[in-house]
Amino acid sequence: MTTAETAYAGLDAETLGFTLDAISDFAARNLPQQLLLDLDAGHEFPEDLVRAMCTELGVHLLFIPEEYGGMGGGAFDVYRVCELLSAIDLGVATGVLATFLGSDPILWGGTEEQKTHWMGRIAEEGLLMAYGATEPEAGSDLGALRTTAERVEKDGDVVGYRLNGAKMWISNGGYADLYSVLARTPVGPTWFIVERGAEGFTHGKPEDKHGIRASNTAALSFEDVFVPADRVVGGMEGQGLVQAQLVFGYTRLMVAAFGLGAGWAALDRALTYSTTRIQGGGPLSQKQGYTHKLIVPHACRLEAGRAFIEETALRLDAGEPSLNTEGAIAKYMATEAGNGAADAAIQALGGYGYTREYMVEKIRRDVRITTIYEGTSEIMEMTIARDRWQSHLKTRGSFYHDQARELEALATQAPGVGAQAAALAAHALAEILERARIKRLTRNQHVLFRLGSLMARVESAGALARRAARARAGRLPEKADRHLDAGALATAGRIYAREAAADVAAEGLRWTVGGDGVSSDELPAFERSLGMAAIHEAQAGLLQDMDSLARSLYARVKA
Ligand SMILES: Cc1cc2nc3c(=O)[nH]c(=O)nc-3n(C[C@H](O)[C@H](O)[C@H](O)COP(=O)(O)OP(=O)(O)OC[C@H]3O[C@@H](n4cnc5c(N)ncnc54)[C@H](O)[C@@H]3O)c2cc1C
Repeated sequence: MTTAETAYAGLDAETLGFTLDAISDFAARNLPQQLLLDLDAGHEFPEDLVRAMCTELGVHLLFIPEEYGGMGGGAFDVYRVCELLSAIDLGVATGVLATFLGSDPILWGGTEEQKTHWMGRIAEEGLLMAYGATEPEAGSDLGALRTTAERVEKDGDVVGYRLNGAKMWISNGGYADLYSVLARTPVGPTWFIVERGAEGFTHGKPEDKHGIRASNTAALSFEDVFVPADRVVGGMEGQGLVQAQLVFGYTRLMVAAFGLGAGWAALDRALTYSTTRIQGGGPLSQKQGYTHKLIVPHACRLEAGRAFIEETALRLDAGEPSLNTEGAIAKYMATEAGNGAADAAIQALGGYGYTREYMVEKIRRDVRITTIYEGTSEIMEMTIARDRWQSHLKTRGSFYHDQARELEALATQAPGVGAQAAALAAHALAEILERARIKRLTRNQHVLFRLGSLMARVESAGALARRAARARAGRLPEKADRHLDAGALATAGRIYAREAAADVAAEGLRWTVGGDGVSSDELPAFERSLGMAAIHEAQAGLLQDMDSLARSLYARVKA
């Protein structure tokens, strides 16, 4: 994937490094742990600090192209920054994300004039933005939106629009200077740029939330709000849903990075804690029943998510358009892994984990949002399944067999990175999809969604194996994270690929049989076609690998 000839958009490695260091320094000075706990307890949005992150640090410049006064960061840079921000505090990170999201319709769908004006102002003034899509009746199904934009005409020309309706759950809703708002024109959903203080535009009180309590979430209300015609994003009605789709690959990567950062922040705390907590005559870090349940599998799942995020970010920065499905896989994998890791971290700290002081309880509540906003996990499963189902049909069933063959080739070149087991998983998935096609099992929405989940796991196992192989060959991109060294990554690759293969075999078989797609007579032959014996054989050495990865993870804590 990383060839010398490919030109990637974004910052150079040194500038990204400076940016990450500057954010860490800012957090060390301004966001100590006690303040974060207090903001959470008081449900307080630290407006001054979030604004200072823009005006002092210039975080918002990252996603603004250089021609509009920004730094011109790419998807990879945004992923690294989002991961770091969420490891600091997901509430604060959401305040920053809302500006990223709010400006996206302008950046991707705006006219050149609009981009120059608005992106220039955001860059120069550090304006706080909000992204107003969701409504009380329109969440996952944005097409159901009811906010209307009625044309205002003068002498036969459209001079503006009157907005009426309500938005719900809008991050920065009570504090933003500028809002992008999706409303229905006679031609269809359209993005509008609305400034704070416009007559008839009000916001509700802050929502009382489960987590990310340091972020502000509020409803918006529009009563005959006049918006001049030059604030229709792109200058044309009816482009709203298309423009929203254009950025999903990119924006879902940001939330994926949130899951990753928060998940690792929780797991790192569990790792540190368990080195000094003595139970049963020794530190918990030396108890296999502890590490192999509460630490090791979560590290592998997080790194599988990271591998997929990095591949997708590189492809976006190389100029591939949208990558919606890949964004969905990245978000699904990394946010589910982040939730799993944070939950395990509470368990890993026992009673202390359940108290507020140790932070993992807050991280667990905070990271919960990542499987909900920017598309729920179920919508991700649907997105992935629908797209890859088409690929299966178009290639006459060879889509995942082809991926498996590429992984087999990788296993020959780079043995021991998990490529072999990932190939078994991909072959098995191809067989399950084909049986689902013949027996028309995807008429069951549940089967379709379970397949989406298996597709994400299989593709992430492949991505992790490729990443481990590149790390071993010293070919990771310069800007890549180096949380784990090459040896540990290869071990994680082997562990995760075994898990993916076992999941595909067990769950795939379960839903195929559960949907009456395989009769009892056909079952032995179908199991053989899935390569069940090979998948079981591939589990050999699993415990040894888990022991080895636990040692690597704890060596990091000591270092
Ligand atoms: C703290 C917070 C901040 C937010 N910030 C913003 C923001 O800044 N801007 C913005 O526009 N929005 C924002 N949102 C809204 C968020 O994106 C939506 O909550 C989310 O998209 C889900 O929509 P919903 O809440 O209406 O749930 P619903 O769509 O009603 O979903 C409820 C459940 O049903 C499932 N479901 C939905 N459709 C289907 C289906 N077809 N088949 C099967 N299952 C389905 C979902 O997966 C979910 O489990 C925010 C929400 C929160 C809580």
